[in-house]
Amino acid sequence: MSTLFPRPQDRELVAERRLVPGLSCSRCGAREVRQYRLLRISGWRLVRRCRVCLLILSQVEPESPLGFEYKPYSAYLNRKSVLRDRT
Ligand SMILES: [Zn+2]
Repeated sequence: MSTLFPRPQDRELVAERRLVPGLSCSRCGAREVRQYRLLRISGWRLVRRCRVCLLILSQVEPESPLGFEYKPYSAYLNRKSVLRDRT
């Protein structure tokens, strides 16, 4: 993976989670909705997520932050077969 993800130069990695002003959570009502990039099982997503109850309010597929298309292997798996193998 080091060929895809070069060694960071900073001592700590920080993902900026920007507050989305004027938006509140539809489940708990908190006004702590943050927007940030996330690598999910299906690939990169730009999510708006409640910081209190962790509900994902919306997600879109953004441009890859790597400069090229990258999807984890899990994005190509049949979700039903993955769940069946767990049990
Ligand atoms: Zn919430």
